Amino acid sequence: MKVDLHTHTSASDGELSAASLIQRAEAAGIEMLAITDHDTVAAYSDNGKLMLKTGRLITGIEFSSQWKKTGVHIVGLNISLESDSIKEGVLHQSQARRDRAMRIAEKLEKLGIENVWKNVEAIAGDSVIGRPHFARFLVESGVCNSIRQAFSSYLGAGKTGDVKQFWAPYEKIITWVREAGGVAVLAHPEKYKLTRTKLSLLLDDFQDAGGEAMEVVSGKQSKDITEKLSRLCCQKNLLASVGSDFHQPGQSWSELGQTSALPGECKTVWGRWS
Ligand code: AMP
Ligand code: MN
Ligand code: MN
Ligand code: MN
Repeated sequence: MKVDLHTHTSASDGELSAASLIQRAEAAGIEMLAITDHDTVAAYSDNGKLMLKTGRLITGIEFSSQWKKTGVHIVGLNISLESDSIKEGVLHQSQARRDRAMRIAEKLEKLGIENVWKNVEAIAGDSVIGRPHFARFLVESGVCNSIRQAFSSYLGAGKTGDVKQFWAPYEKIITWVREAGGVAVLAHPEKYKLTRTKLSLLLDDFQDAGGEAMEVVSGKQSKDITEKLSRLCCQKNLLASVGSDFHQPGQSWSELGQTSALPGECKTVWGRWS
């Protein structure tokens, strides 16, 4: 089955509207799709009207959080959009995003970069504000040559704009997802660059807090990574998820539905609802 359970729209930092994303998914023959914007479910606001003709649309969100000193992302799948817990979660995180963005702007302005807040707010428009909007500003204003450089010099891990102390704790996020009837999935475990031991500890803590699944496949990844993650997933008795983390057309490593194959031994998260 062609499944993609991690994608972004222009409601957060993706390029396409929900309708265009769905059209693209249909053209790619995707049979199960989840839109998982950063800390928002606004893409589903015309709930009931969004439909995937080639299969099933699953509700979703990607929450930002932290585990110890590491920023981690938790995807909530098959959540009730009307639940109080998701409403509370989205409200909390949108305030956190705004506070964080103002703090990032302040820090960049202290470095001598001018009018950061005003411009970034305009670039973000109705989208949930995030570091990619800062990256665009840094490129558009000539401070950086590329989005990549904006992250490596100003916004990436350990840089001025890497402010993460405002997010809700991971335990809280997992509770919101579960109370909304959903499954909490640890997103792209490989991105956190943890040692094998630390990743195992993270998965144990995640599971103790009620997390039930992990992304064994995130986009196109090496065989080594797939094998390592699928082994971990089986060992921990977690469910396996698959997602491209699609943000925009033209990125070959994260095209909609174009992911590495999930090894057969994994128990799939979509087995829960299909
Ligand atoms: P935020 O949600 O505000 O913390 O921003 C994180 C988002 O920035 C990720 O979801 C990616 O879409 C994007 N991102 C992170 N690192 C990079 C990078 N090195 N180059 C381009 N985009 C990035
Ligand atoms: Mn993103
Ligand atoms: Mn993520
Ligand atoms: Mn994502």
